[in-house]
Amino acid sequence: GRLATTINGLLSRLETAFGRLEASLARQEEALARQRRFAADASHEFRTPLTAISGHANMLDAWALEDPQAARKSVRTIKQEAQRLRSLAEALLALARGDEGPSLRVGCHDLRAMASEAVEAARAAADGKVSVGYAPPEEPVSATFDRDRVRQAASILLDNAIKYTPRGGTVTVRVGETGERAFLEVSDTGAGIPEEKLPLVFERFYRLDSARTEGGAGLGLSIARQIAEAHGGELRAESEVGEGSTFILSVPRRTSGSDPLPLS
Ligand code: ADP
Repeated sequence: GRLATTINGLLSRLETAFGRLEASLARQEEALARQRRFAADASHEFRTPLTAISGHANMLDAWALEDPQAARKSVRTIKQEAQRLRSLAEALLALARGDEGPSLRVGCHDLRAMASEAVEAARAAADGKVSVGYAPPEEPVSATFDRDRVRQAASILLDNAIKYTPRGGTVTVRVGETGERAFLEVSDTGAGIPEEKLPLVFERFYRLDSARTEGGAGLGLSIARQIAEAHGGELRAESEVGEGSTFILSVPRRTSGSDPLPLS
């Protein structure tokens, strides 16, 4: 009677404990698999430019110095690929920093001003390829955020919009607020992203096939989302193939200061 009940009670507690252990092991295995894939992807991304650099250096060494045209082409490639390595290293560093936990330097800022700066820089980078429109609202859009990091996220969204929009297209930036959040929105008139691919573009190293030649490593959006989430905000996307895409980054507006920002 009593003994059986006690034993059954113990057994069921053991079962629960084992269940939890199993779930936790599965999670750890998943995390490990993710890290392994990350390392494999990263080393692949490093290897491609390195192969190009050493190939062209060998060509210069062997004969290309005698052929000025070939030499110039090799030097150009080497410089391009070195630049690619540099941005790759920077992107990986940004991700690693975010993985260690967000060390944000938050303050209260006007999102309009930050957007203006990002738009200015984007216009210069677009160099007339696409027009970048921005009509700031009349009232300040104040929110609590790390200026440098959110600026970085905005630049990623703007760079993409410019990169993936054909010449003559339009990129439009909007900032505003909805209830608890301030948002920055970047829309373009580019090729768009198929609905089933939309969640994937935020994954590390993911690129649509059409983007393979653009030279990005597929890390930008994962960094931008990491930044938004570190603030307790989010980054999401809407897109229509053939029409364009819209990326919306939001951060909490709250400035109470009493309870710290949620750290993920
Ligand atoms: P990348 O360095 O390749 O741009 P991202 O992580 O920033 O890496 O983007 C991942 C992929 O999402 C891109 O390779 C591209 O295929 C797609 N993408 C991102 N932004 C846009 C956009 N505005 N329009 C269309 N496709 C986009």
